[in-house]
Amino acid sequence: MFNSYQETTLHYDQSRCINCGFCSSVCPHGVFLSGSEAAVLAKPESCMECGACALNCPVKAIHVQSGVGCAHAMIRAALTGSGVESCGCGGDEGDCCGK
Ligand code: SF4
Ligand code: SF4
Repeated sequence: MFNSYQETTLHYDQSRCINCGFCSSVCPHGVFLSGSEAAVLAKPESCMECGACALNCPVKAIHVQSGVGCAHAMIRAALTGSGVESCGCGGDEGDCCGK
């Protein structure tokens, strides 16, 4: 089965996490969830390498080499001028960012 976590550049060092919650708040695909003591990497296979989590992590616990992000959202934002940064899909099979 395809697992994008093995194909993408997302890496999470849970030992550095201070549980601020930023990554789960900004991730458009629910890759990170809040945990009791640290963020939980819940859906790594849904990462689209947008880079938002790493950009907002205050302790650099997350590293990702951001690529084009969600092409659907970028095209929609360009056409509508809405500034939308996420397509809003769940990243599941059949979604625009699905694998
Ligand atoms: S890079 Fe983007 S899609 Fe991937 S985990 Fe971070 S915020 Fe979520
Ligand atoms: S943004 Fe960084 S420090 Fe904050 S919960 Fe996520 S991994 Fe932990």
